Amino acid sequence: MSDVSGSELRALMARVPSVEKVMASAEFAALLAEYGRTQVLGAVREALDTWRAGAQSGDASVSALDVAQLKSAVEAALRKRHESRLRSVFNLTGTVLHTNLGRALLPDEAVQAVMKALTQPANLEFDLGTGKRGDRDDLIDELICELTGAEAATVVNNNAAAVLLTLSALASKKEVIVSRGELVEIGGAFRIPDIMSRAGAKLREVGTTNRTHLKDYEEAIGPQTALLMKVHASNYAISGFTKEVGLNEIAPLAHARGLAVAVDLGSGTLVDLSQWGLPRETTVRETVEAGADLVTFSGDKLLGGPQAGLIVGRRDLIAKIKKHPLKRALRVGKLTLAALEPVLQLYRAPERLTERLTTLRLLTRAADDIRLAADRVQPALQHAVGERYAVTAEPMFSQIGSGALPVDVLPSYGLVVRMADGKRGGRQLLALEKMLREMARPVIGRIADDALRLDLRCLEAADEAQLVEQLKGARA
Ligand SMILES: *Cc1c(COP(=O)(O)O)cnc(C)c1O
Repeated sequence: MSDVSGSELRALMARVPSVEKVMASAEFAALLAEYGRTQVLGAVREALDTWRAGAQSGDASVSALDVAQLKSAVEAALRKRHESRLRSVFNLTGTVLHTNLGRALLPDEAVQAVMKALTQPANLEFDLGTGKRGDRDDLIDELICELTGAEAATVVNNNAAAVLLTLSALASKKEVIVSRGELVEIGGAFRIPDIMSRAGAKLREVGTTNRTHLKDYEEAIGPQTALLMKVHASNYAISGFTKEVGLNEIAPLAHARGLAVAVDLGSGTLVDLSQWGLPRETTVRETVEAGADLVTFSGDKLLGGPQAGLIVGRRDLIAKIKKHPLKRALRVGKLTLAALEPVLQLYRAPERLTERLTTLRLLTRAADDIRLAADRVQPALQHAVGERYAVTAEPMFSQIGSGALPVDVLPSYGLVVRMADGKRGGRQLLALEKMLREMARPVIGRIADDALRLDLRCLEAADEAQLVEQLKGARA
């Protein structure tokens, strides 16, 4: 069925400008300058093909085509093609260290350092004292040791890599003793038993899921034992009739038998967070002091830095780890080191940490301050979602995320969207969630208890202004 008659179609086709004419036109000069001839030519051909196909199939919306129309089609196509796939979003999930949204946000010092490392040569592996080849760990190990009390340190791609490398270097073909209560899966396929077998180490499980005693470790030690290992349970808790053997008991046992203890600390905080009313986590320094020979932890969890895995501990063991071939495969790039150093520097002034370390600033943000933000954003969100929905500012709880216990929640504030008629509105809420997720800068919240919830803890001033602007221009 055609809305366009044969002669009309021929007339339309005859008026399509030639590719050469289009490319030479004044309208296309700017596009050519920006995207180059190859891409523009391809996009022009595609747009013309689409137009012809539309005209031939009798699409009523197809009318005569001029260069200006073609230009806007080509420009839109090219712009879309060049849109970054990695996009900024608004993290209103209430989870501060959200693994799927990139975990820690870095302070400006780190951003500046990364920019320099990107654009200028640096002494990444060059000893400026001797003029000879250097070691990239030298840039940062002293600072890590200062902050953790460890003898030596090295840095790899992430904590999973740190654990894999540690086990590969120290326990290959040997046994590692771990409590059954600590054989955890962290998410994203990081499971202690799997990492253990990938590292070529034999897992020797001891105790039970809920209770492990010192004598369980003691009886498991044999000629094949390479390491005793403790793993932070991170994202789960066992409660009730439980017993865990502390490092203060395991370390003396291991050392008396000439063995080492490795601790996978997960989040690995460098400061006691309870001073700011946050949940208490054992620090890396305390773990080292309690006798751990090696401690592994993430750079982008509570530490607040870039993705990295830090390994600290006994000098001889770190030396062995650094010599292992996997170290080369798992090493960090210069951008990571550039970002990590200024973040660690901030810890030298702990009294200013809640102001300058982004992660800690977000975690310690007062609910009252967040409430004011919720009151300011509410009208714009109500405008954007329309009258079918009701938006209210309400108290809620944020989570730390990335393995800090889910039961540890932070009093927060946010915007809650429900159906204005009081109905449950499952489908409409899902549609709303999608609409927000598809905005120019996607807004990521969560649906719970028949409401869409947007926790504003992570919405700092500049982002707040941008969000309000975006919402004002939108309408459901
Ligand atoms: C998060 C975590 C890991 C994995 O760390 P990544 O930096 O994500 O690789 C390993 N072990 C524990 C205990 C963790 O909490």
